[in-house]
Amino acid sequence: MSATGQRLHNKTALITGAGSGIGKCSALTFALQGATVIVNDLDAGKGKETAEEIRAAGGVASFIQADVTDPASVEAMARQALERHGRIDVLFNNAGISGVGALHEVEPDVWDRVMRVNIRGVYLPSKYVLPSMMERKSGVIINMSSCVAEIGLAKRASYSATKGAVLALTKSMQVDYAPYGIRVNALLPGTILTPFVENYLKQSYEDPEAAVESIKKRQLSGELGRPEDVAQAALFLASDESKFMMGSPLYIDGGVVFGKNA
Ligand code: NAP
Repeated sequence: MSATGQRLHNKTALITGAGSGIGKCSALTFALQGATVIVNDLDAGKGKETAEEIRAAGGVASFIQADVTDPASVEAMARQALERHGRIDVLFNNAGISGVGALHEVEPDVWDRVMRVNIRGVYLPSKYVLPSMMERKSGVIINMSSCVAEIGLAKRASYSATKGAVLALTKSMQVDYAPYGIRVNALLPGTILTPFVENYLKQSYEDPEAAVESIKKRQLSGELGRPEDVAQAALFLASDESKFMMGSPLYIDGGVVFGKNA
């Protein structure tokens, strides 16, 4: 559990995919720093659990179920959040799924699903939240990219394509919305031990434990990241402390991208 404080005092944050992993940890971290958190997930059970954990820790949270790929569902979520809280100061587009396989191994329907969740899932919440931020001339959007937007990684063709797109989209969004006082930045994590990574390790390797050891070796840190590592970076981007960061990629990768040739 993160430290308590007031770094997000008086801010309302909507976090997609906050029923698990990085999103869940960020929801708890934001709440402990004074934010009112709107927890979104596709899975109502997991999302409600996050909101309950926040309330049990003394924070303020509610849950809204929505599929980030479905316009009606996302529009309803944005409307409901705005009716409940009057404004959304921070939108963290975190929900995402993995896509395993070299390009020739990926079936078209799997390709399309990875594109839908990871790119459309950033586009739609942004589309329905932005008008209220533009009206208030204030807001922060954090988009979840990945260090694979910058480096080649084996058997991650569809996933890498989406995370590269999210990084490019972040920069374009920043140009369009800077005149409205809105900051848009991207997170580029390396390998972070979450249910998402545990699943793909099981799917992709005969010996997941040996795979973890080999991933650790490509890290300068010698360790995988933890959800807390990314949540702290998200907290910084969400807070006014990062007010001079606009359209930036923030790497939380144990040295995988810039440490490769060290
Ligand atoms: P996670 O533990 O699987 O959490 C992702 C959450 O998003 C899950 O609760 C998932 O629900 C939810 N979700 C999936 N599709 C959704 C949809 N259509 N609508 C709403 N919610 C949906 O994964 P994580 O590792 O925390 O990853 C979070 C984000 O970080 C992802 O965008 C991922 O690509 C990115 N990332 C992760 C790593 C890493 O190493 N872990 C590295 C770089 C970037 P279900 O479980 O029901 O599908």
